[in-house]
Formats: sequence, C-alpha cells, structure tokens
Amino acid sequence: MIAGGEVSSREVAQAHLDRIAAVDGDVHAFLHVSAERALQQADAVDKEIAAGGPPASPLAGVPLALKDIVVQQGVPTTAGSKILEGWLPPYDATVTTRLLDAGVIILGKTNLDEFAMGSSTENSAYGPSRNPWDLTRIPGGSGGGSAAALAAFEAPLAIGTDTGGSIRQPAAVTGTVGTKPTYGGVSRYGVIALASSLDQVGPCARTVLDTALLHEVIAGYDPRDSTSIPSPVPSVVDAVRRGQADGVAGMRIGVVKQLRGEGYQAGVLESFDAAVATLTAAGAEIVEVDCPHFEYGLAAYYLILPSECSSNLARFDAMRYGLRVEDASTVSAEEVMSRTRGQGFGPEVKRRIILGTYALSAGYYDAYYGSAQKVRTLIRRDFENAFTTADVLISPASPVTAFPLGEKVNDPMAMYLNDLATIPGSLAGIPAMSVPSGIATDTGLPVGLQIMGPALGEERIYRVAAAFENAYLAQHSALVPDRAPELEVAR
Ligand code: GLN
Repeated sequence: MIAGGEVSSREVAQAHLDRIAAVDGDVHAFLHVSAERALQQADAVDKEIAAGGPPASPLAGVPLALKDIVVQQGVPTTAGSKILEGWLPPYDATVTTRLLDAGVIILGKTNLDEFAMGSSTENSAYGPSRNPWDLTRIPGGSGGGSAAALAAFEAPLAIGTDTGGSIRQPAAVTGTVGTKPTYGGVSRYGVIALASSLDQVGPCARTVLDTALLHEVIAGYDPRDSTSIPSPVPSVVDAVRRGQADGVAGMRIGVVKQLRGEGYQAGVLESFDAAVATLTAAGAEIVEVDCPHFEYGLAAYYLILPSECSSNLARFDAMRYGLRVEDASTVSAEEVMSRTRGQGFGPEVKRRIILGTYALSAGYYDAYYGSAQKVRTLIRRDFENAFTTADVLISPASPVTAFPLGEKVNDPMAMYLNDLATIPGSLAGIPAMSVPSGIATDTGLPVGLQIMGPALGEERIYRVAAAFENAYLAQHSALVPDRAPELEVAR
C-alpha cells in the first residue's frame, strides 16, 4: 500500500507511534522511541515514492523496532544495562545501515535482559517488558521487547539477537515469528557482544513472509565482521512462496527424540503433536531422529557463554563508555573501574562474569571450557547425522508457555531451562526459527514450533514454516485470536 501510494509512510509510522503511546505504558516494549527521526525518515520515503522512483526495497516505508543491543548513531543504546546509560553510539551497526538503506523506518529501541542474558526481560536494568497476551506474564527473553512490540501491534517488524534462544523463545511465547540465521549469516558489526561464537542477529515479525522480507534486507556478507559468511543472501522470500504453493510435499521432517517429554509442558507437547499431524497432512514424511548429546547442551552452553562474556564485558571499564562512578574514595583508576562495574552490572551479569572467569582460569580451563567445547563438537555431529535422514528438524521452541513475572527471576537454573530446545542449534551455528503453532489448551497461551535446518539451509526452514503457517490458517481462523483485554481497551 505504501509503494502504491494508497497510504503514506508517515501515516503508517504515525499510526504505530500512536499505538506505542496508547499501550507501551502497559507493555514496556521500548526503552527509547525515536518519534521525530522516524517521521523524518518516513517523509523521505514518501518523497521518493512521490517522485516515482523505484522503492529502495519491498519494505521501504515500513516501521520496525530495533533491539537495544544493535547500535544506531546518536540514538541511546543501553543493552539493558545501567553501565551504558546515556551512551550515544558514534556509528551505525551494519544491520542498522542496511535497514536505513532499505527505507525501513526505525521507531525506536526495544527492551532486553541486561546484555541479552536471560529468558524473560526481567534482568533488564530498566524494568521488565510484559506479554501482550497477559500483562502479568513474561514476553520471553532476552528479546522480549521486540517480541512484545510485535504482539502488541506497536511495530510490524523487529530485530532480535539470538545467542541461545533470544529470538526464538520470545517469538514462541508471544505468538510471533522469529529466525536465528546461520551463524555468520547476518553481520555482528555494531552489535554489542555477549558470546561472540554464538551471537547472531535475526528478523522477527508476525508472519513468515514478513520475516523473510526482513531477512533478505539484513543478511549478507560484511567485510567488517570477520565471521561473516561470504555467500549470497538466501532466497527466503522465494522459499516462502514455494512453501505456500507446494507445501512440504516430498520433504523429510525429523522429530528430535531428545527435545520433547520431560521438562515440557503438556499443552506445549499437545500443540507440537498437532503440528506434526498438520505437516504430515501437508505432504511431509515424518521421521524420528536421535541426538544423544543434546542433553549436555545446556551445561556446555552455560560454560561457553559465561567464558566468552567474561572476556567481552571486560571492555566496560568506566574509561571508554557510559557510566563512571567516581567519588572521594575512588583515588585510583582501578577503584573507579571496580566501583563502576560493581554498580553498573546487575546480578545475572556478575554471576556469569564470575563463572566465566573461573571456567577460564589456569588449572580449570581444560576441565570446564575444554570439555564444553568437545560437547559442542558432539552436538554439531548429532545435527550432521540427523540431516542425513531429514531435510529439517522440528521441536517445540520453548518448553513452556509464558510464565508469570517474578516466578523464576530468583532461580537462575529454572530460568536457564527455558533454553532447553534452542541451545543445541545455537551451539551448532545452524539456522532455526519459531513459528506460532497455536494456543496451548492448558494455559490458553501461544506455543512456538521450532524448525531447524543445516548450515545455510535457510530456504528449507522458511519453506516449511510457510507451508505450516498456511496449513494452520486453513484449519483455524487466525494465529492470534486475542491479546490482553487491557490492551484492547487502550486501543
Ligand atoms: N536465555 C539465554 C541466556 O540467558 C539466551 C540469551 C540469548 O540468546 N541472548 O543466555
């Protein structure tokens, strides 16, 4: 409609800014709203369209919410931490540049667990986001702000980052779509690092097609990221069209034996079984695959991630960015650093820095970090093996539906278990996405289906996701029947 001049980009941007003004007091998806910038950007797109030029991209003029761990020049970026309060990035991330070049309107920055550590946004130094389906519940994490913005119709597109599940688990518990691309598929330049061997930026939206359109805008080789893959942008939009037209006829879909059963909520498993039946009806051959090392995934991840983040977060030293705590008692640079880090980091960040520093210390390195890396290789081999019998693998994306705020925030182990199904894919660097698979009958809340592919197999997972979405919509009237009644009153 924007490209055809039926509606202006300014009108669309303004409508979303109005929606944010109406509901974000309840949802708290945003840490910063760039209203003026967004409208200026929209006007520029409208001008180009009026001049009759070709649109910069299929998404030119469409608004987006950017996770506050991706930098945008001159726009406050905190990574959900007090230690970066007030910091204005002096440059754009490659993802930001690509969005702006494509004419995508950046509405603002979304809330997240501090430095993307968490599964609920409750570790944000700026207070949690709330799930638009039920405001007393978590929207997932770390990218809960981006997912909540989508589910609350505050933005039609969003950017997330996924280190162990931070795109997929929030998508699952908010009934939205999110993709973690193949490691190296989207540039990490200008994305504040959590665990560099795992971090991956990805697209989020309410439909598979929207997610694919955004994927093509942000993906592709970037010489500024040394782990960026020099291969062409995957044709995921074509893959979606193929899935919509041809379903999954002739595809072999593997159900991972280890990613179901104990630890998974009954309503989630029921929805998963229904999804398997839907995919079978859409033409897939279902096979069971055995990935025996997945059970060690969580343990390996929670050694590798703290190790890498203890190193990455050393740069927050009170000298270069953000917060600096200085008073009469801080006479040395070392004291300034220690006080700043003491006050600037929250408890989960400190916990992981301590754990990681310990795991990397001389004498323990081989026993902990070394063993975890070996497990990582075994998990990668499990996947390689599984992909010899299946084109894609499926599982629930999150073991549970959205849980109440406060329920797990003081129990790190319980919080970590939310990543049970997403972590193996992160350790192996493969692409994986979550698509809504309906509503759990036991809680009445959304469930996500995880679809995983081999490295660079994005086209396969989008095809299956689109076919599933289509088949699901043919059986049910909508994926998103209702949201928190409070939000509808506000609207
Ligand atoms: N919940 C996971 C963690 O706390 C995932 C985080 C992420 O993907 N950024 O590490």
